Amino acid sequence: MWKHFKYEDFACPCCGRNNTHPELINKLDKAQELLKFPLVIKLGYICESYAKRLNSFIDLKLKGHLEGRACKIACIDNFSRFLIISALLEVGFEHIGVSEKFIHCEISNEKIPKSFWILDRF
Ligand SMILES: [Zn+2]
Repeated sequence: MWKHFKYEDFACPCCGRNNTHPELINKLDKAQELLKFPLVIKLGYICESYAKRLNSFIDLKLKGHLEGRACKIACIDNFSRFLIISALLEVGFEHIGVSEKFIHCEISNEKIPKSFWILDRF
């Protein structure tokens, strides 16, 4: 179905459940086409109990994962971060977050305006 990803790449780490929105993976597949190195998905869909186990209140950044609209891509260096974010913007992601180790991206939810945020956790 996708050239670069399997649906399982986005499954909940605790129970394997998966409710990832296909549009998220469609966009990531297009972003991957623009890059010469693989995008490594560190977190995709999460269930309620895993969200609790992450020991974080359920804010907007976890909400995207709970709804299957978000994922976190591993990224630890500045140059890759630049290339990944450029690719994400190019394929139309409008909700992007960055932390030291991850880039978070999610597909649109009309309730949230275009945003670029800083992740303190993860
Ligand atoms: Zn789970």
